[in-house]
Amino acid sequence: MSAALHPDIGVRDRAPQPGSGRTELLGLTRAEIAAALVAAGEAEKSAKMRAGQLWHWIYYRGSRDFAEMTTLSKELRERLSTRFSVGRPVASKDLKSTDGTRKWLLKFADGEEAECVHIPEDDRGALCVSSQVGCTLTCRFCHTGTMKLVRNLDAAEIVGQVMLARDHLDEWPSPPDGRMLSNIVMMGMGEPLYNFDSVAKALKIVMDNEGIAISKRRITLSTAGVVPMIPRCGAELGVNLAISLHAVRDDIRDVIVPINKKYPIKELMAACAAYPGLSNARRITFEYVMLKGINDSPADAKELVRLLKGVPAKVNLIPFNPWPGAPYECSSNEAIRKFSDIVFNAGYSSPVRTPRGRDIMAACGQLKSASVKRSKADILREQAAKDAAAANAVLPV
Ligand code: SAH
Repeated sequence: MSAALHPDIGVRDRAPQPGSGRTELLGLTRAEIAAALVAAGEAEKSAKMRAGQLWHWIYYRGSRDFAEMTTLSKELRERLSTRFSVGRPVASKDLKSTDGTRKWLLKFADGEEAECVHIPEDDRGALCVSSQVGCTLTCRFCHTGTMKLVRNLDAAEIVGQVMLARDHLDEWPSPPDGRMLSNIVMMGMGEPLYNFDSVAKALKIVMDNEGIAISKRRITLSTAGVVPMIPRCGAELGVNLAISLHAVRDDIRDVIVPINKKYPIKELMAACAAYPGLSNARRITFEYVMLKGINDSPADAKELVRLLKGVPAKVNLIPFNPWPGAPYECSSNEAIRKFSDIVFNAGYSSPVRTPRGRDIMAACGQLKSASVKRSKADILREQAAKDAAAANAVLPV
């Protein structure tokens, strides 16, 4: 399947870039790097070794400058720097929450933007990575879902978020332990399973032992339920799976997570039960946003317990994070506690997620980049259409 175009949606591919003429190495597999070297005149027999050396500099040491790569000959370093580059997305904003959460607004080569969030704990931390600019899913409680503009991120743009965070956290060369970037959650903007090829390519780079080396056990991919892609995610990546469930009845889920109309709860749960490698130590996380009066009753909690039967599961209850114009309110603390107790007493871990980074709009569901802003041309077009409609209204037919 094409990386860019999922049959369900009509997202735009990455816009053609004004090139520097140099090939970007970030986001390429080792084999692709070796092939690029051969195309640039390197002998076939040494290309694989050179690709390995470059890999070490790029992904283990975080180097962007060929001049630093002293295991390569001076002549080769110079040749590389005229042909290739190792880039990063540009962090056009760097916001820090009072709780330590940090959000970067990233600008890509075509000017479009997405966000990436670092959530530190005492001795570790997770990076919440985006897979698309915007999102096509239109979940009713999610700010990202209100963005008009959507395009897939490519592998370089996805892995670039991790590289940029490592730069800012000063975590090069990749230390084996005690990193503040120890975990990755594919829970930023976008639906990762609608951009599977690029997400998979990027995560394979992130997991590679000779580079960034974050293990699959420390990576969680979250999906709203693109059922046909769930088996591939398990087979090809083996990362932890999180499901944005949010409702236990199809009539409610159809409204708040509209992809449910295509892949209803029963099919979703069957795909979860079949996810490879599940055990009591390795469970699927079911995310459940608490919406007052919508999905937060004790009956909902009991139905959730029934649905989870047979699936090694844990439940993450997420207090709804508000955003301007949101049509919902967060459930009361009491309703959340009752809900959590029912799930917990049935034998499932059911922590209530502490909202992080709300003050900088970095919490779950609050991400939205300025790529939504209408262009001047759009505004003029809309104005012209309005004017024409007004003119038509008074014209005699
Ligand atoms: N598209 C994927 C990845 C996004 S993860 C998915 O849906 O899983 C972002 C998580 O935040 C999802 O679980 C999403 O449902 C949740 N979320 C969205 N809006 C929210 C809000 N306003 N408050 C709390 N959680 C929200």
